[in-house]
Amino acid sequence: MIKIELKNRQREILEIVKKNEPITSENIANLLELSRSAIRSDLSILIMAGLLEAKPKVGYFYVEENERQRLQDYFKNVKVKDILSMPVVINEKASVYDGIVTMFLEDVGTIFVTSDDHLIGVVSRKDFLKTCIGSNDIHKMPVGIIMTRMPNIVVTFPDEPIVEAARKIIEHQIDSLPVVEKKIIEDVEYYKVKGRISKTNITRQFVELCV
Ligand code: ADP
Repeated sequence: MIKIELKNRQREILEIVKKNEPITSENIANLLELSRSAIRSDLSILIMAGLLEAKPKVGYFYVEENERQRLQDYFKNVKVKDILSMPVVINEKASVYDGIVTMFLEDVGTIFVTSDDHLIGVVSRKDFLKTCIGSNDIHKMPVGIIMTRMPNIVVTFPDEPIVEAARKIIEHQIDSLPVVEKKIIEDVEYYKVKGRISKTNITRQFVELCV
């Protein structure tokens, strides 16, 4: 749920809907002695905040606190390890050509790059496209040269709530995250790749919740 400070008029609308649900926007506007268009943005904000629900041709309903709490708890309790997919990995020395073929064969948009079983980078569709439109020999060029590399890789962990993983995807404007476990060898921290979380995994959770 989006936490927002409500304006006075939005609080008034909530009280009206609580007492009169289901109620149309026209009737809400009449009770406030305003036009429908004057309250349109307030209604949208209340819907986005999860406080009101709109049913077409019926009107607006108040969403009970416990219902919202239930949704929030659900999303807080689902962990990355509950929804992750198998990772697709490639060695840093593999050619860009092989990386592109792997991307097609495995039907993914991102490949994780490893060396000695440790995460060292990520290559995505755009990285491959950029390389192909330059005058590079993609049979000779290794993916290790074109990847985004550690320590700039955004990762998630098996016990992280999926809400946190979703937040990282949105904040960093990327499509997927490697799911990793930390390993410390001779005081150096490494990441072992255990899975993958993409926008699709997160979207699937929303769909499952609603069917
Ligand atoms: P696409 O190339 O299909 O748009 P992304 O938006 O995920 O895919 O990737 C955009 C850029 O971000 C690429 O340069 C890619 O290497 C990089 N990138 C992708 N995933 C990650 C990640 N988890 N951490 C850091 N960089 C990433």
